[in-house]
Amino acid sequence: MNVCPKCGLPKELCTCSQIVMEGQEVKVSTTKRRYGKPVTLIKGINFEELGDNETKELIRSLKRELACGGTFDKEEQVIELQGSHVNKVKRFLQKKGYKVEGYAGKKTKLNREKS
Ligand SMILES: [Zn+2]
Repeated sequence: MNVCPKCGLPKELCTCSQIVMEGQEVKVSTTKRRYGKPVTLIKGINFEELGDNETKELIRSLKRELACGGTFDKEEQVIELQGSHVNKVKRFLQKKGYKVEGYAGKKTKLNREKS
């Protein structure tokens, strides 16, 4: 059985990661690296609170979802994914329960602002 190393509860009952998500706002942006290659940056997640295993799992599932390479910069506390995936990453993180900056979950809101 998968047990949370922090609270000792089975993963199904553990709310550690939910608690971590509260009060956080994740920022997703893109920047360019060497040779003009785009990368997607994920900031604002409290990785220390999340823990090493959860962080690794999050990166693993992001890489699987987006079929791209990715790294975690522990010093800068930022996940870096190869390629430009802002909208996909935002949607993915929101589904996971993160509060994502500038993403309400529905695109209709943007269209309404014009009138
Ligand atoms: Zn826990």
